[in-house]
Amino acid sequence: MLAHWFTLLAVNKPAELKLDTVPAWINGREVVAQGRLGEVFNPATGRVTKKVVFSDEKLIDSAVQAAAAALPAWRDTPPLRRARILQKYLQLLQENQKALARLVTEEHGKTLPDAMGSVQRGIEVVEFACGIPQLLKGEHAENVGTQVDTHSLRQPVGVCAGITPFNFPVMVPLWMFPMAIACGNTFILKPSEKVPSASILMARLFKEAGLPDGVFNVVHGDKEAVDAILKSPGIDAVSFVGSTPIARYIYETCAKAGKRVQALGGAKNHAVVLPDADLEFAAEALIGAAYGSAGERCMAISAVVAVGSAGDKLVALLKDKAQKIKVGPGDQDGVDMGPLVTEAHRNKVKSFVDSGVSEKATLVLDGRSTAMKEGFFLGTTLFDHVTPQMEVYKNEIFGPVLVVLRSDSIEDAISLINKNPYANGTAIFTESGGAARRFTAEIQVGMVGVNVPIPVPVAYFSFGGWKSSLFGDLHVHGPEAVKFYTRTKTITTRWPHQDTPSSGFNMPTLG
Ligand code: NAD
Repeated sequence: MLAHWFTLLAVNKPAELKLDTVPAWINGREVVAQGRLGEVFNPATGRVTKKVVFSDEKLIDSAVQAAAAALPAWRDTPPLRRARILQKYLQLLQENQKALARLVTEEHGKTLPDAMGSVQRGIEVVEFACGIPQLLKGEHAENVGTQVDTHSLRQPVGVCAGITPFNFPVMVPLWMFPMAIACGNTFILKPSEKVPSASILMARLFKEAGLPDGVFNVVHGDKEAVDAILKSPGIDAVSFVGSTPIARYIYETCAKAGKRVQALGGAKNHAVVLPDADLEFAAEALIGAAYGSAGERCMAISAVVAVGSAGDKLVALLKDKAQKIKVGPGDQDGVDMGPLVTEAHRNKVKSFVDSGVSEKATLVLDGRSTAMKEGFFLGTTLFDHVTPQMEVYKNEIFGPVLVVLRSDSIEDAISLINKNPYANGTAIFTESGGAARRFTAEIQVGMVGVNVPIPVPVAYFSFGGWKSSLFGDLHVHGPEAVKFYTRTKTITTRWPHQDTPSSGFNMPTLG
């Protein structure tokens, strides 16, 4: 029945599709259904390169059916066999790293070396997931009461969904589905409609690695597709990464529907630079952290807090380095920074620069003047003497705009950061172990770096922010992913024989 439905969808390819169309991936095959079409751009040229069919409720339902049908056999597949498929997948992802990175550059715009790095960080999660037999081991305690033993199991949650943002088309999906699938769940991924192609290549490679049909599915679309996922009674858990307003909406909607949910949101990441820091080292690190990937990273440093005498020297170094950044198409050699993802986003970032100027922040470097014949480019902007009341400080700009605030002391810097509603990542630059220790202890942020500008934890730790940067209790990948994608069952066992005391009538105490 299911197979027939997919055949129908494939045959009904809409006639108006002239450009390549990115398919959905359901039950181990490509599906091009009829429906609303989205446009996929190459941000470096500003031209539409592909179309993508947005999934409606019916198509999402067929993905849920496929995932539900595949669940019993996959759940019962021994973790060691699941791990063997993941090992093969790891090898295929490594062999195809460049192809995946090229898709990222084509659709997102970031440079190829940057895209390669992000794909590598995603692949490392698959490496971690290969250890799933060890990670799924439960606990056992003998003789918790007379002749009574207790053990715990970690069992899969069921059908899981992942909804991901545009800025990491490979890495963020890989934070989710390999761990979910390793734990014995089946999965439906809804990648960002702006960057849909890499997910389909990842799905094809997983099938080639031996993953049974239906275990991993990909659907595309915007709010309509997301809402169909949230409404579906067949989906047990949702992982989301994206902006804070949508993260909050996903969290609240899933919680009301009784689904397990983790929703990672936006960020405003601060770096504190103390006067004793190696300012050349700090400036070099901050330039990459602020402008790398055109500032479209959830762990980008977008606010520097310069303490005391560090300010003037640091700003001069930042200006010098920022104006040397070469802006251009991400697939060209020697380019440091590509375009922004869409024209609308480029214009939004530009309007934040306008607001900084009208609010009288000191404009040290103006990226608005970097004109290109085509594409969604914007140069690097640096503001100094920014105050917490200004729009350029209050908002997540998500573009190549770095703002510098001045602070008299580390206490003031910590207090400023702790008042910010976002709490994804932060860093301190200093030569003082005592100051760094104080900062790491008192700062209310999920991921902290000491002389490390983008403290993204490696795959065998977990990634996640605090406050408005994460709604839910558990972070992604690493040990917390095993907790999110499994439910604990605790079993208490007694094998009675002649001498076994009876359970009795009152509350059993066992001991
Ligand atoms: P977004 O919130 O606009 O979109 C994320 C996902 O939600 C996409 O799949 C999109 O299709 C869907 N979506 C968009 N609008 C929706 C709506 N109204 N209802 C339901 N679903 C909707 O985010 P984006 O612009 O793709 O990505 C940038 C944002 O993601 C930034 O805020 C960035 O900080 C954040 N981000 C956070 C992390 C993290 O780990 N915390 C990582 C990467 C990106």
